[in-house]
Amino acid sequence: MNTTKTKTMVKPCVKCGAQDRNKRGQCKPCRKAMAAAWYLANKERAKSKATSAAWRKNNPEKAKAKDAAYRKANLYRRNTHEAKRRAAKLNAVPTWGNNWLDKIKIQELFLIAKIRSKVEGIQYQVDHAVPLQSDLVCGLHCFNNLQILPASENISKGNRTWPDMP
Ligand SMILES: [Zn+2]
Repeated sequence: MNTTKTKTMVKPCVKCGAQDRNKRGQCKPCRKAMAAAWYLANKERAKSKATSAAWRKNNPEKAKAKDAAYRKANLYRRNTHEAKRRAAKLNAVPTWGNNWLDKIKIQELFLIAKIRSKVEGIQYQVDHAVPLQSDLVCGLHCFNNLQILPASENISKGNRTWPDMP
């Protein structure tokens, strides 16, 4: 019995064609050369990157607070991602409704829900009008099946109701 694992389909480096490449597609020497070139072309940014890294190191508490604030401000992005991930698990992400424009439109819904929550002082959620999971129907994760609802309504709705219910 053959117990050795053979590496299948090792794609070559996109720059030089060497056989060992990382996830981003380049081999180590090419990656290094690219990093050096970036540094030369972006010295100011490299400097400010180094400065902020040093600041983080010296102000761990402040950096933590800053990260938390950033996460909070960008929660809608995370929610967008999570909703898609949940739907993907259920095979409910159609290929036709997953192009860049749909992705942006869906992300906008989550952003609008966030803004509405802030303005009105009640929690809004993005909901699948036809539920992804129910005994009777299988909704899809696509722009046309998403709606913004107050969280209270979304919770009472559960997966028991949908538009054009028999
Ligand atoms: Zn290379």
